[in-house]
Amino acid sequence: MRILVTGGAGFIGSHTCVELLENGYDVTVIDNLYNSSAKAIDRVREISGKDLTFVKGDILDRECLDTIFESQKIDAVIHFAGLKAVGESVHKPVEYYSNNITGTLTLVKSMAAHGVKNIIFSSSATVYGEPAFNPITEECPKGVCTNPYGWTKWMLEQILSDLHTADAEWNVILLRYFNPIGAHPTGLIGEDPKGIPNNLVPYIAQVAIGKLEKLGVFGDDYDTPDGTCIRDYIHVVDLARGHVNAIRKLADKEGVSVYNLGTGHGYSVLEVVEAFGEACGHPVPYEIKPRRAGDVMELYCDPKKAAEELGWTAQYGIKDMCRDSWNWQSKNPNGYRD
Ligand code: NAD
Ligand code: UDP
Repeated sequence: MRILVTGGAGFIGSHTCVELLENGYDVTVIDNLYNSSAKAIDRVREISGKDLTFVKGDILDRECLDTIFESQKIDAVIHFAGLKAVGESVHKPVEYYSNNITGTLTLVKSMAAHGVKNIIFSSSATVYGEPAFNPITEECPKGVCTNPYGWTKWMLEQILSDLHTADAEWNVILLRYFNPIGAHPTGLIGEDPKGIPNNLVPYIAQVAIGKLEKLGVFGDDYDTPDGTCIRDYIHVVDLARGHVNAIRKLADKEGVSVYNLGTGHGYSVLEVVEAFGEACGHPVPYEIKPRRAGDVMELYCDPKKAAEELGWTAQYGIKDMCRDSWNWQSKNPNGYRD
């Protein structure tokens, strides 16, 4: 069975390619390397000891997609390719809607033209907005997003669901990720943000290695035990494995299914800072800053549906996540540029 992985050179995509190869799937990646490096693909080969097909191409390029579907028999697509910087999306909405929405429309048109109607899509807990309740089940209503990035996920969930309504042959699995962190335990692949990181753990990791002076903790006056926001951090290897289970689930042809992928445990910003300090062997300096606009106070999932229907449960805890993030950061202080 051959899987086309869009965005397969990226953070989650590269880890998913490893898991797919290790589970006996053939893999083709399309990535324009806008936010990634071809080195990640070489490292995927090194970790798995297996080869994969890599196409440097854009999902907005219909001809490139058609060539892939014509030259190889693709059984399903895992669709990671997209722009993901929340803050940037506020300033560049057209780029975000164009890349994420038009890119996905181009992809599904090419898929349909070649009779490939199985897709697993990277959605996000951001679609819950300020969630109606925690822990968040898949029944929790979708909310109001606070930025164009979030809206692209919200809209793409709708678009992909509508595909199935119009043509029951489509199988769509929407995976709502909580907060992926960590890295492959080998330290060969991991998250490699361009410039100053926006996300918590990549920022902490760069403070820990001395590239940044101190972390700004965005708000300590929330209504949580230590006043800082709570998130459901999930090890990227666990998340990647969830995709393998989702691929198996496609065989049930259930139409449209939605799953939360998280651990079900919430950790505060200060708890993550503490856990990372233990992993790297010294405290991580931080200062309290004002709240960040658009931040939700508390987000953690109820992972029961994925456990029952996908047979998937996260195995790693926050200590493992911090250990593996630190291992990646210390072995590759400049990411794939080393
Ligand atoms: P990433 O930026 O590391 O990976 C995305 C990959 O897609 C990159 O390699 C990039 O070069 C590629 N890409 C972007 N636009 C493309 C295009 N038009 N054509 C071809 N390739 C293109 O991001 P990630 O963290 O691995 O996230 C993967 C997916 O999961 C994204 O859709 C993201 O929105 C979603 N997601 C991520 C998180 C997170 O916190 N990392 C949380 C929820 C959802
Ligand atoms: N955060 C922080 N300082 C940073 C980056 C993030 O305090 O430099 C906080 C942020 O306010 C949120 C949590 O860490 O409460 C997780 O943020 P991240 O951007 O990693 O993920 P999000 O859940 O916002 O997508």
